[in-house]
Parts: sequence; structure tokens; C-alpha cells
Amino acid sequence: MPASTIGVLALQGDVREHVAALRALGAEALEVRGPADLDRVDALVLPGGESTVVSLLLSSSGLLQPLEARLGDGLPAFGTCAGMILLAKAVVDGRHGQTCLGAIDITVRRNAFGPQARSFEADLDVKELGGGPLHAVFIRAPVVQEAGPDVEVLAEVDGRPVLARQGPVLVCAFHPELVGDLRLHELFLQEV
Ligand code: GLN
Repeated sequence: MPASTIGVLALQGDVREHVAALRALGAEALEVRGPADLDRVDALVLPGGESTVVSLLLSSSGLLQPLEARLGDGLPAFGTCAGMILLAKAVVDGRHGQTCLGAIDITVRRNAFGPQARSFEADLDVKELGGGPLHAVFIRAPVVQEAGPDVEVLAEVDGRPVLARQGPVLVCAFHPELVGDLRLHELFLQEV
């Protein structure tokens, strides 16, 4: 069987870091900028960045509808920070008309921990990951405010969910691509 190709949505944000993390794990990674790229991938990472900007770029690149269709067909997806916001069913404190791909049954609050200056780091206990706490970097991070019954919360900060999964869709409020710990990318690849 040919190896799977993992797409990284490459419209804005920390694209290179995710590509590097996937390649370090031996995966084939492809930057996705348009519908023809999306056709070639078996899974997709949606990086952190600015969800309102990526929302607009999804429309102008022609990716929005094909991406909704692929997610509806069960495309495995890993959304980090802004990527988590985009994959959610609903957004609180979003821009009017901001894209909600609805791939995971969560409502997220944007910038829930405050502005850029209130960025922080934390060690998370993650159900599912062996090997000790996961160091996590939060930058204008969202939080899962509500989660449907089929959503598993895998980690929290002060009782607030920051890592969650529903079927093949994994989301986190922080930036796993910045810390050199590849365990979450590895967990995602197990779904593919
Ligand atoms: N607050 C940003 C947003 O709304 C996300 C920040 C990030 O990805 N680090 O998209």
C-alpha cells in the first residue's frame, strides 16, 4: 500500500514547523494551498496562526467547499490553536461570518486566556500519551467552552479543556509544533 500523504494547510501560520514535525516522524507531508493539493492528501493538519485570516483565505483559495466535503467524508484532521477554531462547530468572540468547519462538536472561545502578552507555557497531563507531561505553549489561545457527548477531552488547564478528539479529528489550543515533542503528531498519525 502506498504511504499516506499528510497535508498541512498552508494559507497562513506555522506551516513549516508542522511540515518539519511530520517529516521528522517519517511521514510524507504536502503543503495544501488549493483544491488540487487537497485531492492528494489522506489527512490534514490545520496550523496555528490567525483563524479570521485563514477563514478569508479558505474562501478566496477555493478550498472551503472541497475541504468541508472531505471533512464530511471523514478526513482525519489535526487542528492546532487557530486550526482548532476553524474545525469547531461554533466560535465565541469570532469575527462575524468566520468559518466554522464543524468537523468536531465543540464550541470554542477565541483568545480565552487573554491577548498575546498573556501567552504562557504549561505542562499537561495527557490521557493517551505515555512518557510524562507534555510541555505546551499557549499564544492567544482558544479554549473548548462546550463539548458534545462524543468528544473526548484529553487534557485541561485549570479545568478548561485544551486538547480534545472526536473520531479522526484531534484539536489542541496550544502549539505542539514549537516544542520539539512529537507525541501529539504521532497520536494523530495513528488515526491515518
Ligand atoms: N487567537 C488566534 C485566532 O483567533 C489563534 C492564535 C494562535 O493560533 N496562536 O485565530
